[in-house]
Amino acid sequence: MMYDLAIIGAGWAGFNAALRARALGLKTVLIEKDVLGGTCLNKGCIPAKTLIQSAKVYNLIGKSKTFSLSMPGDPVVDLPGIQARKEHIIAQLRRGMESMLSGIEVVRGEARFVDNDTVELELADGIGGLKKINSRYFLAASGSKPLELPGLEFNRTILSSSELLSIRDVPSTLLIVGGGVIGCEFASFFSALGVQVTIAELMPQLLPGMDRDVARKLENIYKKKGVRVLTGIDAAKLDTAVFSLVLVSIGRKAELSGLGLEKTGIRMEQNRIVTDDFLNAGVPNIYAAGDCTARLMLAHFAGYQGRTAVDNMFLPDARRGISEANIPSCVFTDPEIGNIGLNEEEAKQKGIAVEVRRFDFLGSGMARILEETEGFIKIVFDAKTGKLLGACIIGPKATELIGIMTVAIQSGMTIAGLKEIVFAHPTLSEAIGDALR
Ligand code: FAD
Repeated sequence: MMYDLAIIGAGWAGFNAALRARALGLKTVLIEKDVLGGTCLNKGCIPAKTLIQSAKVYNLIGKSKTFSLSMPGDPVVDLPGIQARKEHIIAQLRRGMESMLSGIEVVRGEARFVDNDTVELELADGIGGLKKINSRYFLAASGSKPLELPGLEFNRTILSSSELLSIRDVPSTLLIVGGGVIGCEFASFFSALGVQVTIAELMPQLLPGMDRDVARKLENIYKKKGVRVLTGIDAAKLDTAVFSLVLVSIGRKAELSGLGLEKTGIRMEQNRIVTDDFLNAGVPNIYAAGDCTARLMLAHFAGYQGRTAVDNMFLPDARRGISEANIPSCVFTDPEIGNIGLNEEEAKQKGIAVEVRRFDFLGSGMARILEETEGFIKIVFDAKTGKLLGACIIGPKATELIGIMTVAIQSGMTIAGLKEIVFAHPTLSEAIGDALR
């Protein structure tokens, strides 16, 4: 049988591509070697944020006296219970994905290209046998895997994020090698549970690439919480044996092993699939989307790439390029961080004359009601044109608040336009308006 589209990988990129293909009435097959949902559902966004939510509730209970509520005793962390809740949420969401995929053929097995027009796979689920799939178009959406650090190879106590997400005993000490998004989120989670956390980051600041003021603020908050932050340090120089557990979170690399890319004309560079802006991978009928392109490794960017790739294959009149600019990113630390567009330093490096508006959550009524006044909003705009260039928020619900700035920036708003918006009172979102006045 000849398919219109064969998608390799049922993570967020492949799943979104499959839904788009069904909407276009295409004969589609979605091939997955493991379980539906990829990193995001099984080893990334969803499990991590579920654990973090338990830590948030734990923190809130710890603050009960501030709200004049007395508790009969101290709360107790039940990590196996937290893990069971996480598994339950993952299973529910996976069932949701399965039902959303109804009408699309899903095949379990590891796909490898034989040539530009064919993939073959060993069927999983005990079915066995070799299946050949011919298709007019292919989408490679095979995702990514954690990077290993030479000298700190993964073992029983040196873990990647995938294993750390499933531990059942709370360690007494944790060394986090790499203070990027994943490392900082785990630092917030484990320090909330009372673990002695040390972060070792090679670069001079936490969250490299993030607005400097925001990174500094997070570092100060961590220090107040007793998290040891070592920046500008090579973790190889630390004695890792003194820690109960080590997390190596120095980044991720495209998962391309076993895909048979050498049998195709797919363009590769430094272990990633290179695409043009239209997501074509160098062969007219092969496209790539998501983490395997090693661009912005974010689930919503992967989904956007997946949907756009399908449109670009089958709707020649609606072909459009994609860009990383103005894609929001969130860090689910405590407090949270939301970021979009250019930060102050990046805009200056581009030679743009910028103006910055800032508002501290200390001045927000709602932040005071919530007892979450740490943090601020920073909005960057072009001093000449007033065009909004970027925003960075550290503080309560920053990951939701950045959605407002996402709409404003993606719709090309100016500072004058945003100033006219009336936000409801008393809300955290009115802090955006306050920042401009
Ligand atoms: P994946 O989700 O990795 O899916 C690829 C799929 O392809 C996998 O299921 C794999 O089994 C399958 N596959 C690979 N090779 C083959 C083959 N040969 N044959 C068949 N199937 C194959 N992003 C956010 O936006 N927000 C967050 O809060 C966030 N938190 C994260 C937390 C952690 C701890 C981690 C690790 C990541 C986080 N991410 C987050 C990143 C996000 O998970 C990824 O960007 C996203 O999952 C990428 O989607 P994808 O479809 O490209 O790849």
